[in-house]
Amino acid sequence: MKGRLYIFSGPAGVGKGTLLRRAFEKLSNIKYSVSCTTRAPRPELDKEGETYYFVTEDEFRRRIADGDFLEYAEVHGHLYGTRRDIVEKALDSGTDIVLEIDVQGARIVKEKMPEAVTVFVKPPSMEELRRRLRGRGSEPPEEQALRIKNAEAEIACADSYDYVVVNDDLDRAVDEIINIVKENREEQR
Ligand code: 5GP
Repeated sequence: MKGRLYIFSGPAGVGKGTLLRRAFEKLSNIKYSVSCTTRAPRPELDKEGETYYFVTEDEFRRRIADGDFLEYAEVHGHLYGTRRDIVEKALDSGTDIVLEIDVQGARIVKEKMPEAVTVFVKPPSMEELRRRLRGRGSEPPEEQALRIKNAEAEIACADSYDYVVVNDDLDRAVDEIINIVKENREEQR
């Protein structure tokens, strides 16, 4: 049986990374698709090949031309792309794979692969999102402002996703994600 593709989107600072890490601890046969990006690594937070593959813009453009990406998009002024080889290998070997990508990329993949399960992670409120982004402190203030500006447009797309998870309580939201995966595995049987 082939693996299933999951697409997670949500604004920066909503806690997608933490939610997914926690959910993965309790699930087997599921992996995270590491994307390519032209953004600079965040010291201490990013690890080559684990959070992203960090590439130059020339390298990224070459990969586009070679058809290496299942989708790619410009997000917050940088290029991000999903590696087709990683996704295909996982699905063919029966492993579920999770893309954590923006709303533009999600739309492209869902069009190509309508069987993909899409999940949007929402903050409890915009105020809480601002607070979390400031607290995270991983971007300079102007980059934070850009992410907050983009968040409203992203949240407006939530209704087109198969599931919406509100990250108000971490444990509850993790359980909801685990249940989504289990539910889809049951259906697949
Ligand atoms: P960050 O730089 O904060 O890790 O991610 C910024 C945004 O880029 C997030 O919304 C994230 O979901 C999105 N993103 C990460 N990888 C990809 C990708 O491969 N494709 C697309 N379209 N978006 C991505």
